[in-house]
Amino acid sequence: MVALVFLVACIIAAFVLAMRRASIVAWALAAAAAAFVWQTGLIDGAFHFPALGWLGLLGWLPAIILGALSVPSFRRTWLTGPAYQQIRKILPRVSETEQQALEAGTVGFDAELFSGRPNWDRLGAVAPIELTAEERAFLDGPTTELCGMINDWQIRHAEREIPEAVWDFVKRHGFLGMLISKEHGGLGFSPQAQSLILGKIASRSPDVCTIVMVPNSLGPGELIEKYGTPEQKHHFLPRLAKGLEVPCFSLTGPTSGSDAATMRDIGVVTRGIHDGKEVLGVRLSWEKRYITLGPVATLVGLAFRLFDPDNHLGKGDDIGITVALIPADHPGVHIGRRHLPTGTAFPNGPNWGKDVFIPMDWIIGGERMVGQGWRMLMECLAAGRAISLPSSGAAGAKMMLRVTTAYGRIRKQFGLPVAKMEGLEEALARMVETAYINEAGRAVTAAMVSAGEKPSVISAIMKYQSTERLRQSVNDAMDLHGGRGICDGPANYLQSAYLMVPVGITVEGANILTRTLITFAQGALRSHPYLYDEIKACQDTDPRRGALAFDRAFGSHVAFSLSNAFGAFFHNITGGLFTEVPEKAYGTAEWYRQLGRSARNFALVADVTVAVLGGGLKTRQKITGRLADALSELYLLSCVLKRYKDDGKPAGDRLIVELCARNCLYRFQEAIAGTIDNFPNRLVRMKLRGIVFPFGRPYKRASDQLGHRVVALAIEPGEVRDRLTREIYVSRDVNDPTGLLEVTLEKVVAAEEAERKLERAIRAGTVRRYHGIDWLADAEKAGVLSKAEADQLREVEALTARVIAVDHFDPAELKPHYMKPGHNVQGAQRSAAE
Ligand SMILES: Cc1cc2nc3c(=O)[nH]c(=O)nc-3n(C[C@H](O)[C@H](O)[C@H](O)COP(=O)(O)OP(=O)(O)OC[C@H]3O[C@@H](n4cnc5c(N)ncnc54)[C@H](O)[C@@H]3O)c2cc1C
Repeated sequence: MVALVFLVACIIAAFVLAMRRASIVAWALAAAAAAFVWQTGLIDGAFHFPALGWLGLLGWLPAIILGALSVPSFRRTWLTGPAYQQIRKILPRVSETEQQALEAGTVGFDAELFSGRPNWDRLGAVAPIELTAEERAFLDGPTTELCGMINDWQIRHAEREIPEAVWDFVKRHGFLGMLISKEHGGLGFSPQAQSLILGKIASRSPDVCTIVMVPNSLGPGELIEKYGTPEQKHHFLPRLAKGLEVPCFSLTGPTSGSDAATMRDIGVVTRGIHDGKEVLGVRLSWEKRYITLGPVATLVGLAFRLFDPDNHLGKGDDIGITVALIPADHPGVHIGRRHLPTGTAFPNGPNWGKDVFIPMDWIIGGERMVGQGWRMLMECLAAGRAISLPSSGAAGAKMMLRVTTAYGRIRKQFGLPVAKMEGLEEALARMVETAYINEAGRAVTAAMVSAGEKPSVISAIMKYQSTERLRQSVNDAMDLHGGRGICDGPANYLQSAYLMVPVGITVEGANILTRTLITFAQGALRSHPYLYDEIKACQDTDPRRGALAFDRAFGSHVAFSLSNAFGAFFHNITGGLFTEVPEKAYGTAEWYRQLGRSARNFALVADVTVAVLGGGLKTRQKITGRLADALSELYLLSCVLKRYKDDGKPAGDRLIVELCARNCLYRFQEAIAGTIDNFPNRLVRMKLRGIVFPFGRPYKRASDQLGHRVVALAIEPGEVRDRLTREIYVSRDVNDPTGLLEVTLEKVVAAEEAERKLERAIRAGTVRRYHGIDWLADAEKAGVLSKAEADQLREVEALTARVIAVDHFDPAELKPHYMKPGHNVQGAQRSAAE
């Protein structure tokens, strides 16, 4: 019995040491103490196992080894030194552009998740949605006014162009300079405000959102504001803010898409003539494509690789990626015609130039910033990616939910609103979840950026997750609308989102690359507590200094790994009962517990993956993609819990939060299980399975019943539906297709009792409902309906007929307006070079 107590005490001690990330000295002392007690116990006769005396000796062995390893010089000679040499040999060198991408941006709450022990106070410290009075007035005022003047069909079909009136409005009200500081004539709005303004516009027209979004994200405005010379700031920023200049930013070329750093666009430092004088400048040749606003831009932001063969700048030949700002009407600049991205209307096209000479002061930041282009782009991207696409990802999901809950309640088949059929309830539950999650992630992430963070990993998560989830929501919305969503025309309010989804998925880092490479493979290096230090040590040009740094990081890394293995196993066998829960988590404590437990599992699997795959991390993308998904679920669920708390835990949202939590945990579990099942090393696979799933997979998807209750809340006009779709543009004009939905929904709900009476009479054969018959008059005559009820249903039927109507056209109206007589399609230019 005493021996058993002793063994249990040893196991508990090992758990405590591991979970507290004890030093090697502490482990050595603990092993020595255990060996000593065992032997003493045997001598005293307390343990009654004289035959196991050798176990005591065995206990001394780890004590001696660990004791020796706690002596730095011994450890460096026999363990970390040889390991350092070995890793240094096999580790692929991190390229300069990769290094800049890694170092750009900040590490924040993502590191908490990677640590396996998220500090909830850090998340709690992120501000809730806060707007200044001026920002709120702009969102409710000019932004709403802009939305009201947008006619989506006219833009994307009739004109395939953003109308002049819209351009004028956005320029006049300063929409194009939201990120430019007040000092330089811009609105100087916070990222949170920008995100909400962009989202509201996106909920009305993704095309108009694009022309506002591009000048407010990575491009000339932001680059000049952050890196420009005082003269550039003074000259360009006020003009950009007022829309006197329209910018575009040209990075992508035909051969350099995702791998933009391999661009073939070149600049050579040389002397040339500018404004009649000989000056030092750059001779440029480039070919770019897909450039948003390119066809209407007056200022072209251009990224190219700069060389200085004559060493005019004293920085050697290959200076690196550089960014310049070139007036679109500068001689030699060719602004091409237009691409036609999925039939949308925002201007997008190629541009190119050959041997175009520009003076040095057209380089953003001037001579000081030559070669710094990639770093500048990566720094801005880390913040920008957190705002622009997540704003439309959230707004799109909210808009899809708003119109689909209304249509699903109005449209009846088999005597039932289609939203109440179980098959569609499934799609609607998914849409509710996406609307809640995308908005939660958007709000929390925008608040982080507003506080000055540039979250590189979190922004990658938000970019790919919010656009990917929106894709599913749009498809769900289309499914519920049936033919009504498919047939295009002025009445179709789904098509613009359907057309724009692939654009969001492709730009700012195409989603597959963002998921598999940026979020985890680079993310692991960035957010892991020790990995990047180890890699930097291995890349150090001074091997002595590198070996010392490696030794420091390695020791902590081992303690971290042990802590994760023991911690994950402990929390898995205790169902997360002992994980940390933030203060005042009432109502959500269980989800925090499960998040804490899952974060431990993630930290363990991520750590082992990095150790086993090493340099292969970039190519084992099915593994890294799953880990990116797992990390995303942890982050998004954390945002869901924060949103719920920030919103004051409204009773109506409790079930929605439960639905999100269950599904996030389930998807997390499947992503981790998929990683383990496909792990290349069998032994590691077995061990991980034993630690992470000791009793099998614990989480299940949200139940059908929970989905049913959540959908019932969402299809009811009122506070839950309004909160789920907050801050989007909601029309109440019956001459607007979405306004018609809102008005009809309320009337349909109010007339449900009368509707039921009519349906019963029709089923009983008392009243017949066929063309040519006034069934409401008949129902009134037969005493089925009162006059008031018949009038009510007459109004509802008239509105419903308008809601379900689809447009039809004269064939001539459908001829694309660009197909003018004599236009030779075969002769359409395929590339700028042709
Ligand atoms: C409508 C539109 C507007 C745009 N606006 C601009 C703009 O204003 N300025 C600008 O400079 N650019 C712009 N772009 C370009 C955009 O950023 C690129 O399209 C994008 O970077 C992807 O490049 P690509 O299209 O050449 O695809 P590719 O690079 O050919 O990629 C094809 C597929 O391969 C995947 N892939 C590539 N490499 C990897 C990898 N290592 N691992 C895993 N998967 C990988 C990608 O995820 C993608 O799914 C725009 C593009 C579009 C379509």
